[in-house]
Amino acid sequence: MKCDWCKEGETSPTCYRCKGTGKIEMKPYLVQRLNKPYKGDVTGPLQGLAKYGLQANGLPENLREIMAQVCVFDYMGSSEYEFGEIPKALRALAKASIELKQFSFTCPYEFKSWEPGRSKMGSKLIFVICKAKDQSDVIDAIKKMALGDEHCKERTECSGSFAESEYQADTLGWLDLVHHYMFFKDHDMFKNFCTLFGMGE
Ligand SMILES: [Zn+2]
Repeated sequence: MKCDWCKEGETSPTCYRCKGTGKIEMKPYLVQRLNKPYKGDVTGPLQGLAKYGLQANGLPENLREIMAQVCVFDYMGSSEYEFGEIPKALRALAKASIELKQFSFTCPYEFKSWEPGRSKMGSKLIFVICKAKDQSDVIDAIKKMALGDEHCKERTECSGSFAESEYQADTLGWLDLVHHYMFFKDHDMFKNFCTLFGMGE
């Protein structure tokens, strides 16, 4: 992706961020897991946790209700994922909606299981929402995560999810909180987010 410290069209050879190349690598770091929506009734606080997740801090109540129909923000275990990072990322995507693109690609994955004989390699059709200009960087970043070459703060579990491991059965989508793109293995969740961002077919 383009360096946002340099000015457009005048890359600085002394730029500390891109070292004069004008481009920075899109390294995934804070990638939020999106789990399948909770379908049960909310009759007490524990079901509330199941429905809304622990990570949805900072979402206005009406948006929280809408999001609960679409996904559950999984608990990531690090404070970096909190402090309103989710609404910030969703707002950035919504504001950029005319620049957004939806597409799918076949992503290679390598799942390394701790259980003997359960590791698996393969490929999976993945659905993406990102800014059109970021498309190739986003594909590269997703492939890296799926092949286990990720250095995120907390695990994305995407290789396990792509490999249909039972432990990641609920995780159907991901939201990059730093670079603002989303990807999904579940077509329904993908289409629901496309609708939320006002994207047509
Ligand atoms: Zn730069």
